[in-house]
Formats: sequence, C-alpha cells, structure tokens
Amino acid sequence: MNDPDLIYETIILGSGPAGLTAAIYAARSRCCPLMIHGLQPGGQLTTTTAVDNFPGFPEGIDGPELMENMKLQAERFGANFLEGEVTRVDLQERPFRIWIGDDLYRCMSLIITTGASPKLLDLGNEESLYGRGVSVCATCDGFFYRDREVVVVGGGDTAVEEAVFLTRFAKKVTVIHRRDTLRAVPVLANRALTNKAISFKWDSEVTEILSDTSGVTGIRIKNLKTEKVSELTCDGVFIAIGHQPNTSLFVDQLEMDNEGYILTKNGTETNISGVFAAGDVQDKQFRQAVTAAGTGCMAAIQAERFLDDLPSDPNLSCKKGACKPKS
Ligand code: NAP
Repeated sequence: MNDPDLIYETIILGSGPAGLTAAIYAARSRCCPLMIHGLQPGGQLTTTTAVDNFPGFPEGIDGPELMENMKLQAERFGANFLEGEVTRVDLQERPFRIWIGDDLYRCMSLIITTGASPKLLDLGNEESLYGRGVSVCATCDGFFYRDREVVVVGGGDTAVEEAVFLTRFAKKVTVIHRRDTLRAVPVLANRALTNKAISFKWDSEVTEILSDTSGVTGIRIKNLKTEKVSELTCDGVFIAIGHQPNTSLFVDQLEMDNEGYILTKNGTETNISGVFAAGDVQDKQFRQAVTAAGTGCMAAIQAERFLDDLPSDPNLSCKKGACKPKS
C-alpha cells in the first residue's frame, strides 16, 4: 500500500536498460530509488532473443536474461520496483506528482526512461513472429540472417541504414517502400541505391507476412499503382517504419521535438530542473541498449548532484531514499 506522505528522492519511470542502469547507479549512491515499470518490464530488449553486442558477454546473452540481471543488480543495492501503468504526472512543482490510477507517488527528482516503441504494420501476426523472422532492429538481429534472404520495410534513414547493414550477412536484401523514391537523406539513400546487394520494390505495401511453424517464409505485397499482388520468399522481415517515443504523459510539460522525443541538454537535463530523460525517449539516433544504459548512468549521476544541491528541509525526516513530514 502506497504511503502518500512519502516523498521519494528519485523515481524512475520505465525499466529498459536506461532505467535499470539509472536504478543501479541511484541505488548505489545515497538514494533508494523507486522504479515504476509498466506491463512489459525490461522494455524492448525483452522482445529480442539474443543480444550479441552488449559488452561483457562474449557468447551473447538473451535479452530477457540481460534485463533480469540488471534488475537483480539494482535490487542488490536497494532499488524498489513497482508494477503499474502511470496515468498522470504533474511536473509543475516539486515534489513532482505521479499517479497510478488514484494512487499518488511524489518525488524530488524524476528520471524518465519510458523508451520508444517501434511502429508496426498492423498485420496481426508481427509481434507473434518476433524472434522467428520478424525484427525491428537489424543491429540486434542481422547476424542471425547470414546467407539468408531478408526484406526491409520502409524508406527512411533507418530502413536504408538497416538494409546496408544487413548486406554484411544476408545473401539478398530487398527494400519494400510504398513510394517510388526514398525519404532518407541523399547520402544514406545513395549508399543503399548504389549497393548491388540491395534491390527495391517501389510503390509497394506489405499486406501479409507468410509463415509456417518454423517462422517467416515470405511476404505478400501489393503494388499501389497497379494493384498487382505478388509473393516474395524470405527468411526475415525487418520493419523500419519509424519509432514512436512513449512521451504522451509529458505533453505540455516537457519540451519535445516535433516527433515527440524529449529534448535534453548537458547530458540528460530536461527543461524542468530535477527531471531527467535517458534512453530512447530522448534518442532517435543510436537506440542501442548500451547507449541507453550510458545515458541512464548519466541521469542517475545528474539526479544525485541535483539532490545534493537542494537545501535540506527541517520539516522532513529523510531516510533510505524517501522523506516524510516530521510528526
Ligand atoms: P521516418 O523518417 O519517419 O521514415 C519512416 C519510413 O517508413 C518512411 O519512408 C515511411 O514512408 C515509411 N512508413 C511509415 N509508416 C509506414 C507504413 N505503415 N507502411 C509502410 N511504410 C511506412 O523514420 P526513420 O527512418 O526511423 O527515421 C526517424 C528519425 O531518425 C529521422 O529523423 C531520421 O533522420 C533519424 N535517423 C537518423 C539516422 C542517421 O542520421 N544516421 C539514422 C536513422 C534514423 P513515407 O516515406 O511514405 O512516409
């Protein structure tokens, strides 16, 4: 049962690599942070089977296992975890206020690591085929498609970067784009257009991902100009049609760019003093577990320095990362 009188020194929203790294650092310093995580603790990495590029694991590690290890590490230092869908936040004054339904949580510093969600094609079976042929991250999963045939859906910077990256492994890469020109910036677009290992299906929309019990076997596509429907055999479908940062809770309170990513400066500071943002919620360029973890570390250090600089309140008695009015 939550005690509404408690004021946490630090609350962390979101439990991907950014949030869990922030929790490890915050818990090891003077704060015992409270992490509030949604229904998918661990974030996007829990949808990846093997993580090959997180330093320190020469044989790779399963995404869910990596996240569980980070959580255990944070717990060892005293971080607290709470499952719940945050419904409202008020950052206009300190302590900041966070609601899960009617339950109120208050804190002096807030670290936002709510991540970004890859946009999907809404075909019905994409999520059930994660790890069995459908991927939203070539850097994470490309290695598993050595000498295989893959398609990349999308025409922006991410799609062309992923297509070029996948040519290191796959024997055939086909980009499926719904227009007849790429949206990607010229320098990236040219890299893909001049790469002989990449072919393009223009003006085309994926209408179905075909699969059997072993995973993806191909796609059905429709040419939007001729309406002709055809099938393409492939082992992997990389969906690269953009990400949606999970920032709807903070609209009109935190400064964001025109795509909804939280704007940060000097590391992880937002426009509100005491509120920090780390990981994919403020990074649309790198989106890697290790970069998210790095910014999570920065956010915890910046939150700690912020708390250190706050004048102590003689009316509050503080211990173990949370304060209460003196009775
Ligand atoms: P994006 O620029 O929004 O491009 C998304 C692409 O997916 C577009 O080509 C779009 O088609 C297509 N698309 C969207 N919804 C679709 C749907 N339902 N079905 C089929 N296709 C769909 O996204 P992004 O490529 O992920 O880039 C996001 C941001 O990150 C951009 O600002 C980008 O510059 C940046 N970024 C930068 C780098 C870099 O600098 N190296 C690398 C990656 C990303 P339309 O063209 O028809 O809209």
